[in-house]
Amino acid sequence: MHFLPEAIDDYILEHSAKEPEFLAKLNRETNHKVLQPRMLSGNYQGRILSIISKLIAPKSILEIGTYTGYSALCLAEGLPKDGMLHTIDINEELHDFQQKYFQASEFKNKIRQYIGDAREIIPKIDSKLDLVFIDADKPNYPAYFELIIDKMNSGGLILSDNVLWSGKVVETLKAEDESTRALLEYNKMLAEDERLETVILPIRDGLTLSRVI
Ligand code: SAH
Ligand code: CA
Repeated sequence: MHFLPEAIDDYILEHSAKEPEFLAKLNRETNHKVLQPRMLSGNYQGRILSIISKLIAPKSILEIGTYTGYSALCLAEGLPKDGMLHTIDINEELHDFQQKYFQASEFKNKIRQYIGDAREIIPKIDSKLDLVFIDADKPNYPAYFELIIDKMNSGGLILSDNVLWSGKVVETLKAEDESTRALLEYNKMLAEDERLETVILPIRDGLTLSRVI
């Protein structure tokens, strides 16, 4: 979902950091070979993830929802020499695609892939976290938050994607719409949590920044 007029989107892209060719290739291959390519972060959001990660220089990143690895590779750009990115996806069919790109990248020794349900895997990751990107199934966002909050280092940042859900968060809620219901609960939860300082950015489908105090 794009909230801005197309001409503005185009202008922004023309005047923002360019997508590295390696990621453009991953983007194209995802579009050719994988279902639901719209889930991939893409050029603009990818450059935002990259710049945020570089500003934080996180020793430890957790990504929930790898998909084809695009956002993981953007976030990895900010890792220091001894940094590590952990990324989880439940869909085992994506594993080989992800691995091919991770191995071919300059971050191959800094990315650890996990296949399985994030709710089971997060408790097994024995590491404090400086940066988290929550981008998997929306009904579990509140559960993911509860699983990570005690692992966050003070000053760390939690990024939550698709929090405006194509604008559905301000429309009448349909009884069967689990994702919107969960996101409404989640957005309220973050805004009211006194351990956090939260702002929603109207980037793409909505990206929340929550700084852990
Ligand atoms: N972060 C990616 C896009 C992620 S799409 C990018 O920006 O390019 C969402 C992903 O979440 C899908 O690949 C899906 O398989 C995964 N997912 C869904 N439910 C999950 C769960 N319970 N645990 C881990 N991953 C899950
Ligand atoms: Ca997303």
